[in-house]
Amino acid sequence: MKRLLVFFGVLVSVFSFSLVMPLTVRADDDGISHRRSRNIVYVTLDGFRWQELFGGATESFIAKDAGVADVAAVKAKYWRETAEERRETLLPFIWKTVAKQGQIFGDPSQNAAAKLENTHKFSYPGYSEMFCGFADDEGIKSNSKIPNQHVNVLEYLNQQPKFQGSVAAIATWDVFPFILNQPRSGIYCHAGITPIIGDDLTDRERLLNDLIADTVVLWPDNQIDSLVMQASREYLQKKKPRVLFIGLGETDEWAHARRYDRYLYSAHRADAFLASIWNLLQSLPEYKENTTLLIACDHGRGTTIRDWTDHGAKVDGAEFVWMAAFGPDVKPLGVRRDVSPTLSQIASTIAILVGEDFPSASPKSAKPLGGLFHE
Ligand SMILES: [Zn+2]
Repeated sequence: MKRLLVFFGVLVSVFSFSLVMPLTVRADDDGISHRRSRNIVYVTLDGFRWQELFGGATESFIAKDAGVADVAAVKAKYWRETAEERRETLLPFIWKTVAKQGQIFGDPSQNAAAKLENTHKFSYPGYSEMFCGFADDEGIKSNSKIPNQHVNVLEYLNQQPKFQGSVAAIATWDVFPFILNQPRSGIYCHAGITPIIGDDLTDRERLLNDLIADTVVLWPDNQIDSLVMQASREYLQKKKPRVLFIGLGETDEWAHARRYDRYLYSAHRADAFLASIWNLLQSLPEYKENTTLLIACDHGRGTTIRDWTDHGAKVDGAEFVWMAAFGPDVKPLGVRRDVSPTLSQIASTIAILVGEDFPSASPKSAKPLGGLFHE
């Protein structure tokens, strides 16, 4: 019996060796190990529409009817004659830097609309789709604080020895610890209106905690963006995570509140934040020239003056999203044409941007966005 087991053991090891070898060779052929990107910072703008990303401010929404308090001031600030001028005015970093040196997906006028796979068109299903790599319409159909059963890409990376303890999520919305199943995934997760926790808080983090305590609570489940922007910049400098997700939420909140002016201001500030994060990364030796910035949203919104505020299964157009990538390995193709990406491709894109293969661990997850890399 014992001899038979030994024989079987030899068979198994020979068999598994022959299985493993071609995979290893294939990974090298794919060039993953030759890429420069070692780290990733992934930022989402909750419910920010492709219409403003590609076209800047929508003229008919700069109106009292869309909640704009000072129509003349918003026109002066964000209205320009052409779509190119408007989008550069609203989102200067994305259009002057990311679009020139990286790639942007989701422009329907270039035959490149980007879509959700889930049919719910709201946040938990959207974030689960982007982090787990597939839609689960039956299993994930509410924003309730239910721990996600599916493995997400941040959790997967945190399980790899070279990323362990170096994966973090900092977000305005307090449902992220459930979407990312923080107790199971073990990643650092700071979300919602609670203070920053830790026994190694910096002076700046202590000041941020005072500000969190002193700041009016606009939404009980969602912190204002500025505090999360500051918290994530500080965490980046303190812990130098290799994988950092930053979830901003004000674009969605002000849209629901029918305040097109504040929706535009929030997007403009988020763009300035992207620029400041990028500059910070380039000033730190751990990140300089080896870090990719990935940007996306979790769902679209309606298209008319009545329903631009909303999203969900019944809102036409809320299934359209966008995504952008920028970094040392991303080909400078600008606005991508003739492609049809889905939000579910984000998970394996995050992984491949740091040299890992998420679909090998999570076979249901969609493949990475195509054509990102220099060959
Ligand atoms: Zn929403």
